[in-house]
Amino acid sequence: MGRSSDDARKVELRREGVAVSAGIAIGRAFLVGRDLIKEPRYHVEPDESDAEVSRFHRAIAASDKQLEKIKGKLAASEGESDFHIITAHQLMLKDEHLVDAAVGYIKEESINAEWALRKAVDDIRGVFDAIEDDYFRERRSDIDFVGERVLRNLLGKETGPLRPPPDAVVVAYDLSPADTAQLHKHAVAGLITDAGGKTSHTAIIARAHELPAVVGLEDVTEVVEDDDLLIVDGVNGVVIINPTAPTVALYRDQQRKQAAIEAVLLGNKDLPARTRDGAEVQLFCNIDGPDEVDDAVEHGAVGVGLYRTEYLFMTRDVVPDEALHYDTACQVLRRMAGRPVTIRTFDLGADKLAGFLEAARLDEANPALGLRSTRLCLADLGRELFRAQLRGLLRASALGPLRIMFPMISGVGELRAVKAVLDEVKAELRAHEQPFDEHVKVGIMIEMPSAAVIADLLARECDFFSIGTNDLIQYTMAVDRVNELVSYLYEPLHPALLRLLRDCARAAHTAGIPVSICGEMAADPIVAPVLVGLGFTELSMSAVAIPEVKGVLRATTLVDLEKLVERIVVLPTAHEIRDAVTAYLDQIGVPHGGHR
Ligand code: PEP
Ligand code: MG
Repeated sequence: MGRSSDDARKVELRREGVAVSAGIAIGRAFLVGRDLIKEPRYHVEPDESDAEVSRFHRAIAASDKQLEKIKGKLAASEGESDFHIITAHQLMLKDEHLVDAAVGYIKEESINAEWALRKAVDDIRGVFDAIEDDYFRERRSDIDFVGERVLRNLLGKETGPLRPPPDAVVVAYDLSPADTAQLHKHAVAGLITDAGGKTSHTAIIARAHELPAVVGLEDVTEVVEDDDLLIVDGVNGVVIINPTAPTVALYRDQQRKQAAIEAVLLGNKDLPARTRDGAEVQLFCNIDGPDEVDDAVEHGAVGVGLYRTEYLFMTRDVVPDEALHYDTACQVLRRMAGRPVTIRTFDLGADKLAGFLEAARLDEANPALGLRSTRLCLADLGRELFRAQLRGLLRASALGPLRIMFPMISGVGELRAVKAVLDEVKAELRAHEQPFDEHVKVGIMIEMPSAAVIADLLARECDFFSIGTNDLIQYTMAVDRVNELVSYLYEPLHPALLRLLRDCARAAHTAGIPVSICGEMAADPIVAPVLVGLGFTELSMSAVAIPEVKGVLRATTLVDLEKLVERIVVLPTAHEIRDAVTAYLDQIGVPHGGHR
């Protein structure tokens, strides 16, 4: 991908965000445009129209606030014209033709805010379309832009199907995990977004598909234009817009070096993840679908530690039935050829949405603390879907070493409740003489502090633990994992977290059950040795991370790692802990690239 004469007229710009998926991508910008957002249309009861109007006003206020923030940045660093355009957009947010008209539609036609907004925007566009003057006709795009922003604020992060060209860099305000999951099929080069954090599901998927990605760039969608040449440096969290020819050459060179390093690392694929003093660590993979299994085996995975089955719900319009759950589980088992396969029951909610959930319009103020995951499975809304999944999984358990895992278990009561449903489903299968593994292993994810603190009690009532540190960090530190404003606080090596992890490992060892980590921190070559030192003998991660983590572990000894852990759990800050760990790795001469 070279520079054209058009590129030569543009100025090189640099933006820094959160590095979430390593690698360097060089490609043309593909902006995820307003035409991709489809607004839902429904009628609201007259007595609900005041609430709908308030929702609309909240979206207007949020849009204004976002524009003000962008303007604050521009004022310091960029030209005046952008500043004035954004001021004009803010004025449109107060314009009666937009606001009063939309409110009028909500009240008079009893329609929802998104629909009313669309009608008001279309009316204004109609006026612009009728103007002869080219300049004014072009202002249509401004009203579209403003309308799109308000719509996004009404909808959260809703987008339609993406169709980027191959080798493009997708540029979006934010992308749903479902959209990101489709991206690799289009062979895009990379991904950058205004919003997002390191362990958002969007970031996790980008890593799984080896898609270089930088998120949390705040205003990159305002700066980049379609077809601009972009460099995405997913290691350092840097995006370069319209790079000069020497910059492109520099990054091309780095791309070649990285490819060479990765090829060497893949050479350890058939070697065990064993420390120098003989401690075995099992490196499993996290997958979002059966199509990722072959890649996982090629990277040396010895089993599936986490299959996120909610993607079965997120990537299709109809809800999966028992047959689909059975078929996909069988596919994974077959491809893993006798290696253990841990299938997590669907973990929907928060940033992972499915059609049936959206249709239910739960309207929760705090979805990350709401009716999600196992809670949803136990509620009326999810119970039948959950039972269908359990039937499918149990039937598949007759064919191979399948382990069933329940996410977001808050305590023993909830564990007993899901086990009771499982027992009912088993009884049904027996009654219908459907074979399944009577000894199928049943485990839980520990991903909230309440579960970590009573890990000893939970360990008595299940067969294995897997620690979901992505959520455990979120809930322990009160840091939204998808919020770029607080992502600096999202720290896997926080002493509070290490102590919780140590307690979980001890509880599992005392009860004699296996315990693994399947959160993203297991994939970090600096953090993984600490986890082994804490007592974890199973780590599960994106396939792509396995060779590097294995390389680091093979260079250490368990004795050293245990001593290291003793030293660091008493250090007061994550910063000091990270320094101590990197000093140790430097001392034993292990190259460590940091978080992928
Ligand atoms: C976790 O929370 O660490 C986890 C593995 O689950 P997810 O990232 O899907 O929430
Ligand atoms: Mg989780």
